[in-house]
Amino acid sequence: MRVLLVGSGGREHAIAMALARSPKLTELFIAPGNPGTAQYGKNIDIKVDNITDLVKFAQENHIDLVIPGPELPLVKGLTDACNAVDIPCAGPTQEAAQLEGSKSFTKIVCDAANIPTAQWQEFTEIAPAIEYLKTQSFPIVIKADGLAAGKGVIIAADFTEAEQTIKDMLAGSAFGQAGHKVVIEEFLTGEEVSLFAFCDGENAVLIGAAQDHKRIGDGDTGPNTGGMGAVSPPPFFDKAAQEHALDLTVRPMLIEMSNRGTPFRGVIFAGLMLTSKGPALIEYNTRFGDPEAEVLLPRLQSDLLEILFNLSQGKLSQSEIKFSDQAGICIIMAAKGYPGTPTTGGVISNVEAAEDLPNVKVFHAGTAMNQNQELCASGGRVLCVSVLHDDLEKAQEIAYQAVHKIVWKDGIWRNDIGNRALRK
Ligand code: AMP
Repeated sequence: MRVLLVGSGGREHAIAMALARSPKLTELFIAPGNPGTAQYGKNIDIKVDNITDLVKFAQENHIDLVIPGPELPLVKGLTDACNAVDIPCAGPTQEAAQLEGSKSFTKIVCDAANIPTAQWQEFTEIAPAIEYLKTQSFPIVIKADGLAAGKGVIIAADFTEAEQTIKDMLAGSAFGQAGHKVVIEEFLTGEEVSLFAFCDGENAVLIGAAQDHKRIGDGDTGPNTGGMGAVSPPPFFDKAAQEHALDLTVRPMLIEMSNRGTPFRGVIFAGLMLTSKGPALIEYNTRFGDPEAEVLLPRLQSDLLEILFNLSQGKLSQSEIKFSDQAGICIIMAAKGYPGTPTTGGVISNVEAAEDLPNVKVFHAGTAMNQNQELCASGGRVLCVSVLHDDLEKAQEIAYQAVHKIVWKDGIWRNDIGNRALRK
């Protein structure tokens, strides 16, 4: 099969590595890819949101399956555009991707399908939103409705902060179009985990669970990032608990989406809060997480290409999807300045030495080759050091040894990835 993978992060490097193991793969293209994906296929200079050129490329190159990595092409209708020219695409349609693209849409689906989630209301006008706030307790959660690059959620400690946030979102332009509708919801407490499953419109097959570390600083301090590391599975969230959570938060969604005439086919990423009353849905993402893919996919023992093709055809088979029981951890190496303006251009070496350690894989994200053909940093999150091991604590130890082997003067990372899961 000839495959076009869309994206350029560590997630796409991990997907490319898994696809490369498939005996069915004849040629892999990655748009736009990175130096890591180039080890497994040909990088193509097309941006992830250029739907017209992606589809044109797929047609001209007789692509048998398009695999979207990030959310943007999904929300922009890549799957619909591929389907319109009879090219299978392993992701949800634009309508189904509203599960990630609109917070209020997700809430409506949750309520219709009886999925446990925080109580909520949506608003487009300031005055009624503030009246509603007067009836609520604090902290409270305020969400810009649309895609806001992970920055559209504010946890307001008190009424004053909540009122200001509502005004900023609904009247200001801080969140652009994404903030012109807001969802105000109850603040949930508990342990946060992410649950992943392959979905073919009817069936959900468990991939696994992970816990990520969103803040830039040790001890969960400082601003939010795209994710600074992850562990899988969180030791307190075993397979039986994961299946139970799928029954509560994913399978009813599939039925509801199917009933609406917009079945969900793709990878679902359910962000959950494990509350004292059981798991509650915080959000859906309609694709693999990054960096969660970098700890989940190395554990996949089955053929990812076959799974994604079958998924696109609505024909998943649970029995064919197998994962190893090992634990995984990954640590993001970011560029100094991230999540603000990162220092780019710094040369990175010794990646091979890190990969010489047992079960270590270094995935590329914001990397590029400079004029001297040296690996250098070109973005905020730059490398993802991922380790599998029977024992999570040992995996953590090896992962940090690997991080310290990599030579890069501008690299920053958290030193406590996995501590929360290991309850250190
Ligand atoms: P989201 O983009 O919806 O995942 O929200 C980003 C982060 O905000 C989540 O990962 C949670 O840590 C937090 N969050 C979102 N909704 C809630 C909620 N209802 N209660 C507590 N924390 C929340």
